[in-house]
Amino acid sequence: MKWPLDHRVRLIAGLSRFRRVASARDGRGLVRPTPITLAMVASVWLGAFAVAQDGDSDKYREAWQRGEYLTALNLLDKLIEPDDNYIPRGLLKDRAELRLITGKLEESIADYKALGERYDEVEGLVLLAEVYKYAGRKEEFDKTLVEAQRRSDYWFRYADRRDVMSSPEELLFRGLIAEMRGDDPKNILTGIYKILMEQVPGFAPAFVASGNLALSKGSFATAAGYFEGALALDPNDQEALAGLVKCYWQSRDERLEKTLDTLAKLNPNHPGGLAVRAEMLLDAGKSNEVHELTKKVFAFNSANAEFLALNAAAYFLEDKQTEMEETQKRALDVNPSCSIVFRLPGRIASRHYRFKEGSELQHKALAINPDDHEARAQLGLDLLRLGDDEAGRQELTAAFEADRYNVQVFNSLNVLDSLDKFKSISRGSFTLQFPAAEEPIIARSALDLLDDAATLLQAKYNMTMETPVRVQIFDNHDDFMVRSVGLPGSSGHLGICFGKLVTMDSPSARPKGSSDWHSVLWHEFTHVITLQKTKNRMPRWLSEGISVFEEKQRNTGWGMNLDPNYKKLLDESGLPGVADLELYFTQPKTPGHLMLGYFLAGEFVKHYVAAYGQAALVVSLDRMGAGEAALDSLAASANTSARQMDQAFQDYLKKRLEALEYLEPFAAALQQAVQAAKAQNWIEAETAYRKAYELFPEYEGPSNPLIGLAEVYEATGKNNELRETLHGSLGLHTANLDAWRKLASLYEQMADWAALEKAAIGAAAVDPFDSDLCRLLLRAQRQLGVHDKALDTVERLLAIDTTHAPEYRLARIELLMKRERWDEAKQHAVRLLEDTPNYWEAQEHLLTLVEQTEAHAVN
Ligand SMILES: [Zn+2]
Repeated sequence: MKWPLDHRVRLIAGLSRFRRVASARDGRGLVRPTPITLAMVASVWLGAFAVAQDGDSDKYREAWQRGEYLTALNLLDKLIEPDDNYIPRGLLKDRAELRLITGKLEESIADYKALGERYDEVEGLVLLAEVYKYAGRKEEFDKTLVEAQRRSDYWFRYADRRDVMSSPEELLFRGLIAEMRGDDPKNILTGIYKILMEQVPGFAPAFVASGNLALSKGSFATAAGYFEGALALDPNDQEALAGLVKCYWQSRDERLEKTLDTLAKLNPNHPGGLAVRAEMLLDAGKSNEVHELTKKVFAFNSANAEFLALNAAAYFLEDKQTEMEETQKRALDVNPSCSIVFRLPGRIASRHYRFKEGSELQHKALAINPDDHEARAQLGLDLLRLGDDEAGRQELTAAFEADRYNVQVFNSLNVLDSLDKFKSISRGSFTLQFPAAEEPIIARSALDLLDDAATLLQAKYNMTMETPVRVQIFDNHDDFMVRSVGLPGSSGHLGICFGKLVTMDSPSARPKGSSDWHSVLWHEFTHVITLQKTKNRMPRWLSEGISVFEEKQRNTGWGMNLDPNYKKLLDESGLPGVADLELYFTQPKTPGHLMLGYFLAGEFVKHYVAAYGQAALVVSLDRMGAGEAALDSLAASANTSARQMDQAFQDYLKKRLEALEYLEPFAAALQQAVQAAKAQNWIEAETAYRKAYELFPEYEGPSNPLIGLAEVYEATGKNNELRETLHGSLGLHTANLDAWRKLASLYEQMADWAALEKAAIGAAAVDPFDSDLCRLLLRAQRQLGVHDKALDTVERLLAIDTTHAPEYRLARIELLMKRERWDEAKQHAVRLLEDTPNYWEAQEHLLTLVEQTEAHAVN
């Protein structure tokens, strides 16, 4: 039996519209609406309010709809005589639900019990079972569910299509019972809810129930479709709006704000809408506002488990351990197995990259409720991010057994299987995992870069990192995403760091030449340093800012440049203050805003270090690690105030963004240059390109002035200027394979082998699979006499270019001979001749080698 406790309120709330129809029937003493047509069912349904009750009952219903739950309950109580032994069914049911919403659990149970006893229908029992589940009273839940099932079976045995059409709610409850039993969601959807939606298309609760079921399995687009179906029947359906809000939030749909507003206008206290608002605030680290928001719910229900959990999460972010525990206790007093008060704050901890604390909270959730498979799934994902793949796999497997529809869990287990086939190399502080076939292409280069980064950045940030740091490189982008976040897609992500684990795409998983994977690795490794140093207690924007900053420090062609597209975004928002930076990451309006966030965060760090010194930055990270707020730490370490720091940053930005004021003359100059180049009017083209470059030197788009200038110099044979321009272009942005090719070819012509080697190595960070550039590298290294490096390059060539294998194998023999590794050379020569017996160069080498080894044997 599955036991997801916190779904309870949602389900009950989801039934409220249905309940009103039942009340309507009940109030009029009807058992069934007699003329059975679809249209009639729909109109009875939608007209429930109108036919149902007199003026007084309208009042409590209206208050209820506005979210004034306590007022509604008071008004309802006035309709019931204190010594009334026979409360009308509709009023009794409404009172039970309002009592539940307002946290009067025992009274609500008493009402539902009365309902179940008085009427031989399934409804009261289903609702009672739900309340028992919410209260963690498992035995009573089981018993009630069995009884509900029995009654539903009885109805179902004799029900035909007409019965379904006249009493769609009976079938709906059958679906809810199946959900509570933990039946296969696919069967519930196709076998029950879909039939209802087709047969009784005006019955909104079937759409809402389908939406909730799909939502609970993570199928957000499908769920949104069902909720929209319900809203087509009634645009003010609060449960459908609340469901839609959750879908939009989970899938980062831009319609979220509008839908939240619609719901808030109808009912400013709707728990579904408020919960999503609170989650958004928690993501943004605005814990203060979460406390304010949860007060709204506590005003009518001080024991609402979900809101206590949200409140506890806010305390977690504030490092207020005692307050968090007190809040958790309030929920546990009502329900000792209320695991959401640990699971939810744990999930928030992990969203803030504090996986260790997140996993500890999931352990606590599971200790009081071992059936909480959501907590188990989250624990599994946390463990993977902590680098403990084996323990993570165990938890995920168990979570999968309990819920085979959790997409994240399913995907993660699949990727763990493919990781088993990866090759793993441990060297120094690092363990590198990657597809075995890519070893000669990326392994050495990655480990060398990581060693460099570790030496440099540990010293610079005054810290010793926890090792081993695990780096996983995937040749399949979806695998990388699943490994990192549990879901495929998001082609914008290149790498992700979790503190002790870095995951990233191999260049083979990206479009050829589209990014510099060394820059990605440098960026992610910088996160290892800053996240570990602060024990993951730093805002995302600052961690990104330092990573972008360190990229540019290492190579000016890495990191972020000023982009003309930022102008529109900044014109709309105005210059951001330091406190605004986090929102670019936690709730970016568009992918463009996210990119702008990276740029601005990087610029903040650059400015901060220039203005207050690297030491101030390092000290501020120490303070954050000790629990101080980020802005306070930054200001205090710089001996300034937050306000002054903000002002200085904005002053810096004004200057830094100056080029954005020249976009029009820049575009005009660029256009003039392109036209002149087309007409082969090289002098005019050169002048215009230079002017464009001066106006906006950082533009790195595909038709940037430096690329244009290079074309001009190429056409006019000005090789010195061409080389300089190509270097300039690559110094702005390294992921330009064409520029690397031209540069390499120039150095080859000049026989400048050292420069050629450098260029070919730079190119390999953009595309290590390019065999032409790799052959040039081999040539340079052989000329330079760096035989060991050349041997590595031969291995890379053999991995990426099988058509020329004999040629590379010969080169390997020759290089081994240069290194006087005679035996290895001889073995390779024999093997080469076995495969290609007539390869005379190989024959000659073998002869030499035989003589050589015999001479050695004599000596
Ligand atoms: Zn990053």
